[in-house]
Amino acid sequence: MHRKVEDRSDVAERTGVGSKLISFEPATGDEVWSGQVGDAAAEVAAARAAWPAWAAHSHAFRIEAMRRFANVVRKQEQIFAELIARETGKPLWETKTEVGAVVNKVEISIEAYAERTPQRKMEAALGNKIAVRHKPHGVLAVLGPYNFPAHLPNGHIVPALIAGNAVVFKPSEKTPATGAFLVQCFHEAGIPEGVVRLLIGGPEQGRDLAGQAGIDGLLFTGSARAGMALHRQFAEMPQKILALELGGNNPLVVWQTKDIDTAATLAVQSAYLSAGQRCTAARRLIVEDGEHEPLIEAMRKLNARMLVSEPFADPQPFMGPLIDNAAADHVQEQWLNLMMKGGKPICRLDRPFKDKPFLTPALIDVSDVKERPDEEIFGPVLQLVRVKDFDHAIEEANNTRFGLAASLIGGSPEMYDKFWANVRAGVINWNKPTNGAPSNAPFGGLGMSGNHRPSAFYAADYCAYPVTSVEADRARGTIGQGLRDPNMVED
Ligand code: NAD
Repeated sequence: MHRKVEDRSDVAERTGVGSKLISFEPATGDEVWSGQVGDAAAEVAAARAAWPAWAAHSHAFRIEAMRRFANVVRKQEQIFAELIARETGKPLWETKTEVGAVVNKVEISIEAYAERTPQRKMEAALGNKIAVRHKPHGVLAVLGPYNFPAHLPNGHIVPALIAGNAVVFKPSEKTPATGAFLVQCFHEAGIPEGVVRLLIGGPEQGRDLAGQAGIDGLLFTGSARAGMALHRQFAEMPQKILALELGGNNPLVVWQTKDIDTAATLAVQSAYLSAGQRCTAARRLIVEDGEHEPLIEAMRKLNARMLVSEPFADPQPFMGPLIDNAAADHVQEQWLNLMMKGGKPICRLDRPFKDKPFLTPALIDVSDVKERPDEEIFGPVLQLVRVKDFDHAIEEANNTRFGLAASLIGGSPEMYDKFWANVRAGVINWNKPTNGAPSNAPFGGLGMSGNHRPSAFYAADYCAYPVTSVEADRARGTIGQGLRDPNMVED
């Protein structure tokens, strides 16, 4: 079936349990997948029923199961990468790296569980022992975004399962096929069907899942808007864990660099990889006024060479389309808004194929724009801000309510120290792009980018809670003070 690519979030909003959700290829409009919208209550009930047996297994048993899962994914690497490429429009070379990250997550999470939530025993007075051990929460809901529809939810699911939780996973309504494939891999690896449940649906099902009494927490990766809504929904429920991995408005500062071509390359990678649909994408390029022309010229040349095409094109493109026409329309509106406020385009945002969500890499000088909107433009739009000195560069980098990623390209070691010390973000890089964060380190943001529950290596922390026990082989007790002498007490 070939259709005009439509706004699928809207499709999902209008649908209820049992109705059909269809996923379309952004690049062609062809149908990828269709399935029925699920019932959050039923999925949570299934997970609750399966959870005690899963939690009762040894840690070693669950690790073995996860390793089988990694093997199942590895064997289907190509098919999985092709499916993600079709469903998201991301180039095949990139989706192959996403599947690689899904596999690697298993060993990283095993190591993280051991390092972050180990069993510890300490000696105390009188031969007593203090033990610290961790327990799973129970049933955890996982809500995933569309931009890394396998890797990011998997980054919650694998640590949650290792810790002994059962999971109800709702993939984005824009990438249900990828979500269904991921869950199938867990089941093929022998993880019981009740332990990993798939809930198909959109925001409505997300809200419904979040409101289920039978969940013990929710692990979310997505927009700040949805994150705030969930935070409100979880108000007065301190007993439930809520981990929010949200968006950013990330600064990239290029300062006194001699290697202009490398700086331009890093800036282009930061801003336009995945067509700018990364939470860590650079949105603001901060440069020294008067010194910036060579960098801009080098970026302009690179942008002009950039291949924007469908995911299976040969040669492979740098970037594919956005997820759908609604997303591309929204980014174009945000671009026009910047222009209306006085932004000066350097590389125009073009829509090369009519009725398709492809956008070209865009650069706009917003230095003279008063009241720049501090919002995430989730597409290939980079805003140039010229400043007079390095202190103003830092001030401008912090001029956001978000705080996910920030990079400095160039500068001296002293400048990097100053940058690191003063910039508020959970990822601060030097001479590296803002994106491409390592999975074997914690990943999270400040401000509106999250709620201080970093993911990646620290996901183990929110998947289990510590129990402290003071233990003795036999009961002993004395009361040393505050009692009358027994000889003085009249019977
Ligand atoms: P989104 O917030 O629209 O949707 C994410 C998930 O939440 C989907 O499954 C959706 O159905 C569900 N949802 C939406 N509104 C909801 C609500 N009110 N209640 C419950 N569930 C709801 O995000 P998206 O557009 O799919 O993904 C892009 C966003 O994700 C960007 O803002 C990006 O920066 C962010 N992101 C963050 C990280 C990170 O680790 N910090 C990583 C990737 C993407």
